[in-house]
Amino acid sequence: MYKVYLKPGKEESLKRFHPWIFSGAIARFDGEPEEGEVVEVYTSKKEFIAEGHFQIGSIAIRVLSFKQEPINHDFWKRKLEIAYDMRRSIGIATNPTNDTYRLVHGEGDNLPGLVIDIYAKTAVMQAHSAGMHVDRMAIAEALSEVMEGKIENIYYKSETTLPFKADLFPENGFLKGGSSDNIAREYGLKFHVDWLKGQKTGFFVDQRENRALLERYSKDRSVLNMFCYTGGFSFYAMRGGAKQVHSVDSSAKAIDLTNKNVELNFPGDPRHEAYAEDAFKYLDRMGDQYDLIILDPPAFAKHKDALRNALQGYRKLNAKAFEKIKPGGILFTFSCSQVVTKDNFRTAVFTAAATSGRSVRILHQLTQPADHPVNIYHPEGEYLKGLVLYVE
Ligand code: SAH
Repeated sequence: MYKVYLKPGKEESLKRFHPWIFSGAIARFDGEPEEGEVVEVYTSKKEFIAEGHFQIGSIAIRVLSFKQEPINHDFWKRKLEIAYDMRRSIGIATNPTNDTYRLVHGEGDNLPGLVIDIYAKTAVMQAHSAGMHVDRMAIAEALSEVMEGKIENIYYKSETTLPFKADLFPENGFLKGGSSDNIAREYGLKFHVDWLKGQKTGFFVDQRENRALLERYSKDRSVLNMFCYTGGFSFYAMRGGAKQVHSVDSSAKAIDLTNKNVELNFPGDPRHEAYAEDAFKYLDRMGDQYDLIILDPPAFAKHKDALRNALQGYRKLNAKAFEKIKPGGILFTFSCSQVVTKDNFRTAVFTAAATSGRSVRILHQLTQPADHPVNIYHPEGEYLKGLVLYVE
C-alpha cells in the first residue's frame, strides 16, 4: 500500500476522527498512487493514523478506517452490515408500509463518497469519489450478501457524480439483476422511481419524515407543492384530506411521473392538478387561494462562492410565498444546499417575512431523517434545513 506523510501538526483533525484530508496537509507521497487507490496515512513522526481513498483535488484522502486493516470483501461487508443493522434497530428497514430508505449515507455511515438507496427490491448505488467507483464491484458483492433475500437488483448510477477530471468514465447500469419494476412504497404511498433517468438516485428519500409531518397539517387546506419533482409531498397532502393539491415543477419529465403517481395512489382524483412551469413564473401568476405551500427548491448554492446569490434566491422565493399565502396559512420551506447554514437560511427567510410585514411564527425546525445520519465528527454532513411557519 502507498504511504502518505502529513505535515507536522496536520494530524489533529484525524485525531478527532474527521474523515477528510486536504491536499494542503500532505507533506509527501511514498510512490505514485492512482486515483481511487487506498493509501496509508502517517504523521510527520511516521506514526500510522488512518487509511483511505486517494483522489486528486482539494479533499485528497477520504478516510475509510483509523485502524491498519485490509480494505477487502470482509471490510465492505462489515460496514454495510453496521449500516443495515442501524436502520433495522431504529425501525426504518423493518416498517411493513415502507420499503424506501437510504442504506448508506456517505460520511454519516463512515463510508465517505458512497450512497446507497433502497427502493423495494432494488438498491441504487452512487459513487461520489474515485475510490468508491474503483471499489464498486467489491461493494456490490458485499451488498448482495448483506441484503440477501431482500434485494434482487443493484443499479449503479454515477455518471454525473464523479470528478470529471479523473477520467473514470463510469457507465450507469445494473451490477446485479435488471428488473424494470420500479414501484417503491413510502409510508404506504406508491411511487414510480426512475433510477435510470431521474434526478439523484431516482427519488428524494430525505424528505420522508417531513412529508409525513405535512400530512398532519393538510386537512381541508388548499395546497401548492412547489418544486414537486415526482409529487412526494402532494400525496401525503391528499391522504391528509387536502381539498385541492397543485404540484409544480419545471421538469416536464417530473410532472409526467407525478401524474403517473397520482394514478397509482388516487386514480382519477379531481383534487390534484400538475403544472410543468418555472417556479418564479408560477408564483407571480398564481392567485391567493393557497393556505399550505411547500417550497423545496434544488440546491441554490453548490459552492461557497455562490452563497450570496443563493441566499438572495431563497429570500426572493420565500417573499413570493409570504406575499400570497392566505391568512392562517402554513409554509413548509426548505434548503438542501450544504454550504447554506441553518442560520443563513433562517436569516434569508426572516428577511423575506419582514418584507411582507406579516406576523410569522416558527412551528417546526426540520432536518434530514435518521437514515441520513450526521457523523458527529463530520458536521458538514448536515445539509437539509426546513422551517414550518404559521403566517397570520
Ligand atoms: N420536493 C421534491 C424534491 C425537489 S428537488 C420531493 O419531495 O421529491 C427540486 C426540484 O426542483 C426538481 O424536481 C427540479 O426539476 C425542480 N426545479 C429546478 N428548478 C426549477 C424552477 N426554476 N422552477 C420549478 N422547478 C424547478
